[in-house]
Amino acid sequence: MTTDPISLEEHRMSFSLTSPQTLSIRRQLRAAVDGRVVTTDDADYDQARALFYGGFDRRPQAIVWPTDTTEVAQVVSLAAERGLELAVRGGGHSSAGHSVCDGGIVLDLSELKALEIDTAQRTAWAQTGLTAGAVTTEAARHGLAVGFGDAASVGIGGITLGGGVGYLARKHGLTIDNLLAAELVTADGRTVGTDADTHPELFWAIRGGGGNFGVATRLQFQLHELDGVVGGMLLLPATAETVAGFIAAAEAAPEELSAIANVMPAPPLPFIPEQEHGRLVVLALICFAGDPEAGERALAPFRALATPLADLVRPIGYPELYPPEEEGFHPTVVGHTMFLDRLDTQAAATIVEHLQASDAAMRAAQLRVLGGAIARVPDDATAYAHRQRRIMVNLAAFYQGPDDRAGRQQWVERFATALSPVDDGAYVNFLGDDGPARIRQAYPGPTWERLVAVKRRWDPTNLFRHNHNIQPGG
Ligand SMILES: Cc1cc2nc3c(=O)[nH]c(=O)nc-3n(C[C@H](O)[C@H](O)[C@H](O)COP(=O)(O)OP(=O)(O)OC[C@H]3O[C@@H](n4cnc5c(N)ncnc54)[C@H](O)[C@@H]3O)c2cc1C
Repeated sequence: MTTDPISLEEHRMSFSLTSPQTLSIRRQLRAAVDGRVVTTDDADYDQARALFYGGFDRRPQAIVWPTDTTEVAQVVSLAAERGLELAVRGGGHSSAGHSVCDGGIVLDLSELKALEIDTAQRTAWAQTGLTAGAVTTEAARHGLAVGFGDAASVGIGGITLGGGVGYLARKHGLTIDNLLAAELVTADGRTVGTDADTHPELFWAIRGGGGNFGVATRLQFQLHELDGVVGGMLLLPATAETVAGFIAAAEAAPEELSAIANVMPAPPLPFIPEQEHGRLVVLALICFAGDPEAGERALAPFRALATPLADLVRPIGYPELYPPEEEGFHPTVVGHTMFLDRLDTQAAATIVEHLQASDAAMRAAQLRVLGGAIARVPDDATAYAHRQRRIMVNLAAFYQGPDDRAGRQQWVERFATALSPVDDGAYVNFLGDDGPARIRQAYPGPTWERLVAVKRRWDPTNLFRHNHNIQPGG
């Protein structure tokens, strides 16, 4: 690897299209990796720096796609030696825009796509360029599954390191509860394996602590037998009674059932009656991971809440819960994530009223009943410490351009306060760029102290800071 005699300050400067610094970083990255390198003067630069969410106009010096762990280590070492910003990108779904930076390097993992499934042991080693959808589809070919979230295009690195709440959460726990081991490139450029016995504090920290401790290049998961599910979309009219009733039914349901209820205006989908388009509905995605007949019984209380506007819940292959996603869709969204421990008719009325009062092109309250296997793991077993919280609530609104953003954000915050005047918890994977106080709410009390200690040990200079950052100084 060549290193040019350029000061750190020069590297932190912004880079013009053909500056010597840009040429230099391109040369250095090309020497370090076989994979693609895109810099500011390349035609596909804008595409290469885009994330799933729109609204982040950050300009890295280079985006690089390493092709193996050794190349990941080379990029990490280069960034460390040269004092460059380093953003790590898996699936690019960060709602805080953490996987792109101004200046510096975006390390894109999407070329790392190896997946080894051991059907006898029911385990899988997966490289972190894979998406939730890709691993789910491949595991299903063997009648196996591990739970991620509700979107196929989310990267397995980001979702796993933050926790992972999805369709199998009440039955098999969070994604991290099924993580057996990991391979990380740490800030000093070393490749380190970790599991319950090897660097156990590091293993504790990466299960919820996000990308603070290194670049995860491979993750090993425990898989579960899953020969299809009863699942799909159930659409109900949204009233205070149906929303509260849905939550009560989800809490009373067997653990095989996990549901994600989006209270939102009905989108103009072909199977939704046209007169309902734009009217407030409960658009629920339901998964019952068990015997189909028991699934039908578990679904009955939901179906009894009101005459469904659409009912697509049926026996399906598990990957069918991940429908194809729209290419080139980059919504601009503000949000607020929080927990509630109960959601009665009064709270449901607050949800309906706030959503009805907004004129955002899309706005939603997403409700996920937790518990089950999530709650059976002790609070201090992993860095996800909200094990006993009952309901996760994600409030969101689309905004149209920078002028619209502040007003939408205020609406979201007022909405959150109306639901819970005390803000006492957050799930890190749904945090936006909400500031240090909200990060502390993701990591309450002793969790934070312990994460800081692990950070000091593994990343004392805070190389990995484009994340919900745990600073080595606390
Ligand atoms: C449409 C949508 C649906 C979602 N649904 C769910 C859901 O159902 N359940 C849920 O739990 N979450 C969900 N999420 C949140 C999601 O888990 C987080 O946004 C997650 O961080 C995305 O991971 P990514 O790799 O796609 O994102 P990226 O933007 O690539 O990464 C986000 C951050 O994670 C870190 N990171 C990513 N990969 C690595 C790695 N290999 N090593 C080290 N650090 C890494 C980096 O700090 C990076 O900045 C959803 C997000 C979206 C946009």
